[in-house]
Amino acid sequence: MSFLPRATVLMSNIVDNWRTLDALHPGATTAAVVKADAYGLGAARIGKALKTAGCQTFFVAYLDEGMALRKAVGKGPRIFVLNGPMRGELAAYRDGELTAVLSSDLHLKLWSTAPRGTCAIHVDTGMNRLGMSPALIDTEATAIRRLAPVLVMSHLACADEPQNPMNLHQRRAFEDVADAFPDTPASLANSSGCFLGRNYGFDLTRPGLALYGGTTPPANVQLKTGVILEATIINVFKGARDTTVGYGATYPLTEDRLLATCAIGYADGLMRSGSGKLKGWVDGVACPVAGRISMDLVTLDVTDGPKAIKPGARVEFLGEHAKLEAQAAACGTLGYELLTGLGPRVQRHYR
Ligand SMILES: *Cc1c(COP(=O)(O)O)cnc(C)c1O
Repeated sequence: MSFLPRATVLMSNIVDNWRTLDALHPGATTAAVVKADAYGLGAARIGKALKTAGCQTFFVAYLDEGMALRKAVGKGPRIFVLNGPMRGELAAYRDGELTAVLSSDLHLKLWSTAPRGTCAIHVDTGMNRLGMSPALIDTEATAIRRLAPVLVMSHLACADEPQNPMNLHQRRAFEDVADAFPDTPASLANSSGCFLGRNYGFDLTRPGLALYGGTTPPANVQLKTGVILEATIINVFKGARDTTVGYGATYPLTEDRLLATCAIGYADGLMRSGSGKLKGWVDGVACPVAGRISMDLVTLDVTDGPKAIKPGARVEFLGEHAKLEAQAAACGTLGYELLTGLGPRVQRHYR
């Protein structure tokens, strides 16, 4: 029995979420983005489970992630490496049967010298992050066709704001690219993009966060919880009136309060910016964080919590009650950062 913080990854919920997203775009392939160790939840385990469910396409950011995922899922599924190849990596792409996502003229040059491997073309339709300019796609069209890319893709900058004109602008720009490569499958949508409508689905969608239960706007489907983050209460005591709680003495007690110290802190990914704002749920009752979150500990005000709260009790910081988006908002960030920030001390369990 360990009292370390625990993240229980709900595999069947993640698989259900993949199916839910898949149903949104019939006729399109639904990939799974499992970069950053599947947003901190374990790419090998999740990759295997999704493969068993029928997912044949994965995206990672780095070659190293791609090689590790290939070991986990075996031969067969296509694994795209979003960050693209660097000099010296070409043999590893070939040996791992990994698909390089080419996003610059340098990538094109590099890949044309490569021992035959599969590649994809990333076009920048307005985000100014990664991707070739549509102008470069035009001038290099012949060279690109010679590489026989298995996918042309682009990435939306504002998919979580359905009213943002950027979405339509990017979609139109991408349609031109897709039209220029009529025999190559096309992909534009991340999780939020999946919710923008059929026009955004193209041939392949690339959800990440939504698989793990993140309900980024404009989510129009019910997604299931992907992870439960829990920690253990190790001390319950009376905080006396006219004292303060925690570093900086930022939480004054104007009356006697019942406090509970919980074994989890910012070293585990319980972000310090959530001090005084985050909540933890004990037996389904929300209890506010009292004062600052420290490295290994956080104090909750459990005065209005469940009766007979004792050391050993579990506190839910993510899960059915503690919604990822709400907890992230309390920390002034997004579900993405909260999930990927779960620390190495958090014990991952799979259910
Ligand atoms: C991370 C990423 C995704 C997945 O994004 P979500 O918002 O998590 O669905 C899709 N495509 C690209 C290019 C990405 O970098």
